[in-house]
Amino acid sequence: MLRADDLTFAYESAVFILDGLSFQLAEGEVVSLLGPSGCGKSTALRLAAGLLELTGGNFEWQSTPELAFVFQDPALMPWATVAENVQLPGQLKGKIDREAVHEALDAVGLSAMDDRFPAQLSGGQRMRASVARALAANPKVLLMDEPFAALDEMLRFQMNELLLDLKNQRGLSILFVTHSLYEAAYLSDRVLVMDRGQIRGEVTPDLDRSASAQDQRTSAAFTSAVVAIGALMAETSQ
Ligand code: ADP
Ligand code: MG
Repeated sequence: MLRADDLTFAYESAVFILDGLSFQLAEGEVVSLLGPSGCGKSTALRLAAGLLELTGGNFEWQSTPELAFVFQDPALMPWATVAENVQLPGQLKGKIDREAVHEALDAVGLSAMDDRFPAQLSGGQRMRASVARALAANPKVLLMDEPFAALDEMLRFQMNELLLDLKNQRGLSILFVTHSLYEAAYLSDRVLVMDRGQIRGEVTPDLDRSASAQDQRTSAAFTSAVVAIGALMAETSQ
């Protein structure tokens, strides 16, 4: 789906934030980027989304990327209803797809709240609305930058389940930034540990996806993935 090859990037100064970053995202795969604060995770996502321009290296997309971005801050317009917020990106592009908006709200379980305003939603519901807004564009790839970091643990678990369901239903490929070892181990096919703009190592959790969430989260495979990620994190410069 996506191959990032030897990416380099500097903001205005001469300091390289990304310094030879290479990784791949296969179709239908969830890949997490994990690493100390400031190591370049958000920068890598912004580059993938084309919001910043590379200094060197390149991205190779399998086809024209249909991307959607989800941030930690749901950033809903307070003056618009949930449905209006979800349809806003399409509206700005001049093509409102009501069917896609309806399906996206349904997919995140917010159909019954489509005429509420953001202030009338809980934190978890606001994040669901933010995910629905991303889905309404019918993306093939989701770029997610610590989307669930502000949620309490129960909500985060629920959002993790929702995300895996959506991935399976829609065949999404997901590049997921998190600072939680547990979330990375649970969600990911592969976890890439970043440090100073490079990949330091990779962990493949290999959970039994046919088992219940509870069984997966208490499995030996999950524990060893968390331990392996922790060992790589300990080698970073944080
Ligand atoms: P992470 O998401 O891993 O915490 P970022 O990609 O946000 O890291 O930032 C990487 C580095 O780039 C940090 O040192 C940060 O201070 C710097 N940086 C981020 N955004 C900008 C910007 N707009 N201008 C200059 N430097 C920036
Ligand atoms: Mg960041």
